[in-house]
Amino acid sequence: MPINELLAETVERFARERVRPLAEELDRNEDFPDELYKEMGKLGLFGITVPAEDGGASGTVVDYVTVMEELAYGYASVADQCGLIELITSLLVTFGTATQKERYMTGLQDASIRPAYALTEAEAGSDLASIKTNAVQEGADWILNGEKVFIHNAPVADVAVVLAVTDPDARSSKRLSMFLVDIDATDGAERAYREHKMGQRASQVGGFVFTDARLNPDALLGEVGAGFPAMMNVLDKGRVGIAALSLGIHRAALDAAVSYAQERKQFGQPIGNHQGIAFQLADMATEYHASRQLIHHAAAALDSDEPAAALCSMAKLFASEAAVRNASTAVQVHGGSGYIRGVEVERLYRDARITMIYEGTSEIQRMIISRSLLRP
Ligand SMILES: Cc1cc2nc3c(=O)[nH]c(=O)nc-3n(C[C@H](O)[C@H](O)[C@H](O)COP(=O)(O)OP(=O)(O)OC[C@H]3O[C@@H](n4cnc5c(N)ncnc54)[C@H](O)[C@@H]3O)c2cc1C
Repeated sequence: MPINELLAETVERFARERVRPLAEELDRNEDFPDELYKEMGKLGLFGITVPAEDGGASGTVVDYVTVMEELAYGYASVADQCGLIELITSLLVTFGTATQKERYMTGLQDASIRPAYALTEAEAGSDLASIKTNAVQEGADWILNGEKVFIHNAPVADVAVVLAVTDPDARSSKRLSMFLVDIDATDGAERAYREHKMGQRASQVGGFVFTDARLNPDALLGEVGAGFPAMMNVLDKGRVGIAALSLGIHRAALDAAVSYAQERKQFGQPIGNHQGIAFQLADMATEYHASRQLIHHAAAALDSDEPAAALCSMAKLFASEAAVRNASTAVQVHGGSGYIRGVEVERLYRDARITMIYEGTSEIQRMIISRSLLRP
């Protein structure tokens, strides 16, 4: 059986049996239990595209988006964890030294090491070239100073991949470098606070503060000055992954709306018999399939090393906006009960909203797509 089918079956069962029944409680308690991390690690959901020689499943990007959709159908915060570890392990596969791979790869994949990917700062969100966190060389070591905000997993992270300025005078593609920072083992590296969010509330999001944090030379991930291209290297996979996460939310919203339209009676018949509701369901299903085609097309382009940046941005733009629109439609189909805490579509609506913001906002995706059209 191809890995795609095997993975899809395993992850579909895990999402249906283990994740979906827990989603409401995880949202309410803003909690991501350790057992769930461990189970995901055992199932091989961390680092789907990691090659076998690095301990992974050697999956394709199409496999990865399949997994992301299924997990998000269960609960988006669970998919988010898979997406984050996919990015960090991809960075290690491409840029990590043998020592770095040995130190982190197994722990990331079996969920004993929790990572964070720390790019964003208070004054540098969409415009990452303007980050201020800096690392200055002192002998062979690096001294890291700065603050990161809105970082997924920051409150629980063991290791953070941190983007910092290493050459303030260089042009933007050479100014930045990436560092692997072991939070507990590094004096001056601190988890700063925890945010309370609108949706995906089980995902722990917060900040880091680095105050004269001394890093040994082995903390550098990739070459000095290669941080920006390294970040760009995983961005497309990150975007198509979030598109697939949006797709899972969209499908959960569609299923909930169809079920409700069959059960709920008004004017003596199921509300699905009223054309006003039936047509909304038709549009939800059509947009689901349109999103899915875009995502799989972009993922296949990445798998065959074709230029995929604009395709990944299109997939992310369309799928995230479709998820928000259709989660809203699912609330509408549910009437008043769709607005009540504990009803699935109320959570889906909140969970969907961030997909238009993180991993590049919709406006940034439109910039990337339009630049690809207008480039001379
Ligand atoms: C729950 C959550 C999890 C996150 N996880 C991570 C993480 O793990 N790691 C990480 O590094 N970051 C993370 N982020 C940060 C996220 O990537 C940023 O919030 C996002 O990129 C937007 O940056 P900003 O919030 O600073 O908004 P801004 O960049 O200030 O944008 C504000 C508004 O202006 C628009 N805008 C900005 N520039 C332009 C332009 N040139 N043209 C048109 N419109 C523009 C934006 O689209 C947006 O609508 C997370 C954020 C959240 C909320």
